[in-house]
Amino acid sequence: MENVLIGHSFRIPRYYLDLIDFKDPCCPIKGQAVPSLMEAQKSGHDDPLNEAEFSVTPILIRRHPDRCVFLVSSECAMYCRFCNRRRFAGKAFDPEPYIEESLSYIESDARIREVILSGGDPLMLDPDKLRSILSRLRSMKRQLTIRLSTRLPVVYPEGLTAGHLKAIKDASPVWVIIHINHPREITRQFLKKIDSLRKCGASMVSQTVLLRNINDCPHILLSLFESLIETGIKPYYLFQLDDVSGASHFKVRLSRGREIMTFLQLNASGLAMPRYALDIPGGLGKIPVDPEHVQFLEKTTTVRLTSPAGKTGYYNDDAEESRCMKCGRCREDG
Ligand code: SF4
Repeated sequence: MENVLIGHSFRIPRYYLDLIDFKDPCCPIKGQAVPSLMEAQKSGHDDPLNEAEFSVTPILIRRHPDRCVFLVSSECAMYCRFCNRRRFAGKAFDPEPYIEESLSYIESDARIREVILSGGDPLMLDPDKLRSILSRLRSMKRQLTIRLSTRLPVVYPEGLTAGHLKAIKDASPVWVIIHINHPREITRQFLKKIDSLRKCGASMVSQTVLLRNINDCPHILLSLFESLIETGIKPYYLFQLDDVSGASHFKVRLSRGREIMTFLQLNASGLAMPRYALDIPGGLGKIPVDPEHVQFLEKTTTVRLTSPAGKTGYYNDDAEESRCMKCGRCREDG
């Protein structure tokens, strides 16, 4: 287990720990939070999207001329076992010395129209620090689109304080992207914080990672996306897992992902439909997982990808077969 933990930090808030059903060997909450020996398998990369190559400061990633990802915190309330930014999240690295340099970089290039606060989790920052970053972005001469990507309301709702909410309200409009993967993560405490975010003017969308034996079931994802719509959160992206080290056991075959999307198209409201996409190194951007952009090659697990801009790349679709979750819904349908 020690070797497993060297690969990626370990932390579970009491709140999320209490959501685990220890009697259920397939508990999707436990699967996301508790390290497994499978993490020691050698596969993937610590930096699966080659973000370091696109970094213009140690905490500012620019893969596109018009937007950048600003890694303002290296801490998360919980370290998800499938995290694709494990090279940074949970590592002993203080972004503080690079914040001003990064803000100056953003200010100096008028082509940058959008800034995505990420990490780690930006809501792990002290509220005063968050406020100073947001107000500095807002005080720039041009109107920036500000996105804030967080999992805090899902794994540690009490960590979202009145100070954070005020900082978001004062920087309005702010798009908050909630990373949520399973309907069991929608609790009374989560809903209360979503309500507070809405009241402070945040526009909310969600992103979900498709995870083997956690949520690779059409009924589970239908339930998640419809519940999100009911709470006023638009499902935005369903992501194929990046080729990150120590997480290959979470990878879902693209064909399974497509099956799930087909089921959703037939059964979900259009509003509840996310985009299903994958990302690979090489700056191709997010590639829609559909027949136009993903081509399965014969007698190999390699898949050819064509980006919307016409660039070509390859992805190894070597995931193990999904096993059905124990919700019983498929049997009811059958
Ligand atoms: S919250 Fe995001 S950055 Fe943090 S461990 Fe989870 S996936 Fe990684």
